[in-house]
Amino acid sequence: MTQQALFIIFGGTGDLAYRKLYPSLFRLYEKGYLKDNFAVIGTARRPWTNDHYHEVVMNAIADDGHEADRTNSELVRKFASHFYYQSHNVNDTEHYVALRKLADKLDEKYELKGNRIYYLAMAPRFFGTIAAHLKSEKLITDHGFNRLIIEKPFGRDLKTAKELNDAISAAFSEDQIYRIDHYLGKEAIQSIAALRFGNQVIASLWNKEHIDNIQITLAESLGVEERAGYYETAGALRDMVQNHILQIISLLTMERPRAYTAGELRDRKVEALQNIKIYSEEEARQNFVRGQYGEDADQEQQAYRNEEGTDAQSQIETFVAGKLVTTNESLAGVPIYVRTGKRLAQKSTQINVVFKNVDQNIFKSVADADAKLLQNVLTLYIEPDQGYRFDLNVKNGNQSYGTMPIHLEYHKSAAEKAKVPEAYEKLIHDALDGNRTNFAHWHEVAQAWRIVDVIRQTWDSEEAEFPNYVSGTMGPQAANELLARDHRTWVYNPNR
Ligand code: NAD
Repeated sequence: MTQQALFIIFGGTGDLAYRKLYPSLFRLYEKGYLKDNFAVIGTARRPWTNDHYHEVVMNAIADDGHEADRTNSELVRKFASHFYYQSHNVNDTEHYVALRKLADKLDEKYELKGNRIYYLAMAPRFFGTIAAHLKSEKLITDHGFNRLIIEKPFGRDLKTAKELNDAISAAFSEDQIYRIDHYLGKEAIQSIAALRFGNQVIASLWNKEHIDNIQITLAESLGVEERAGYYETAGALRDMVQNHILQIISLLTMERPRAYTAGELRDRKVEALQNIKIYSEEEARQNFVRGQYGEDADQEQQAYRNEEGTDAQSQIETFVAGKLVTTNESLAGVPIYVRTGKRLAQKSTQINVVFKNVDQNIFKSVADADAKLLQNVLTLYIEPDQGYRFDLNVKNGNQSYGTMPIHLEYHKSAAEKAKVPEAYEKLIHDALDGNRTNFAHWHEVAQAWRIVDVIRQTWDSEEAEFPNYVSGTMGPQAANELLARDHRTWVYNPNR
């Protein structure tokens, strides 16, 4: 369905706008979700002209993988002509008056019916002042929809997240706020619900009677790259666990929604997060380990502490592994092991659901000595691979009655993957449609901070012995011990 709206992108000259927002808006335009009735105002401090802004937008589309000559195509030019640049300092009230005048003019020119989407692609410390000015300077229309899209990080802990939420809530109601967690825009993450609730086989096994443990790995092979400034204030726990990993856990552990609607899903996810056990400091110490990368084995890649922009004594973790448990009745006590880090052996995001072994191995008496029944594992590949794998035991093909493991696998082909809308494209499309299913509700964000804050406080009170893992491995030994003490191992182990 074609939508009419004015986008006002704060931080229009930034990296996110260039790499994600402009190409996503273009794809929505190509597909007809946006047609003649839309306009974009990009604002930031730089004194750009509209013409320069059009060049930037066209370059962003070209850099996104579209063929170079697309920058000259009629479609791209027509698309870029909907973009307007307004130099703007977010702290200056005067600028909002100019912004309103331009917004009202474009509203009339493109017949946008007062529909506005404010995209805050800027550091969160500006969110409060922008939201307050949007209200006081009357950019928020009284006809049409007004939606605020905001980026992570949403605070540094519960206290700062609450302050941030109070600030934006003074101008926008919860149902107007769209908090981006771009993992929720990923096809394979959205597919968790289809897999769990669309298959009787899986739905009936998804409980503590049958699941032994769940493992979630978000592994990056790159180091901190150019993001040291941000990373030094964040670390892996805040950057990955508080948002993406806990969102994934909520989707894996929630009870079945009555329908796949934003409201139902939000309620089930909030419940799921409320059921995750909040640790005491002692429990946090026992159940979570942190790491920071050192050099690689060949000493070609440098240690985190030697990267440009990091502190030579940095206590920031580039790796986290931990064990969480839910009190949710159907999965109570099932350990959920999580792991994320930079400079790991391979880039891969995957979920491994490990099922319990059969009660009795009836083949023991007849089997070959090496015949062992392995646990069934259901693997969801999130990225870069997208697909599924199911490990089963079958007969070994020999004269004797031994068994052997096989894998049923499905992987999306490159052509199929290319057709899947990119996360930002999906999320912007949903925001245009007023569909909040794949955005994080305040209650989810707040509960995630409650879970993570204790771990952070525990770590902040003790000095870490960093670096403690070699670049190109799967993190510190302590991450393996975390499972070994439960007589388990990580299913995904590219070093093995
Ligand atoms: P960036 O530093 O590239 O861009 C920041 C933008 O804010 C620039 O356009 C800059 O001109 C503008 N700005 C700064 N101070 C200003 C002021 N006083 N008045 C007006 N404009 C001002 O940052 P980014 O990488 O684009 O990230 C933007 C937000 O998105 C951040 O919250 C970041 O955490 C989040 N985010 C970014 C990415 C990414 O891939 N870049 C991914 C996830 C989340």
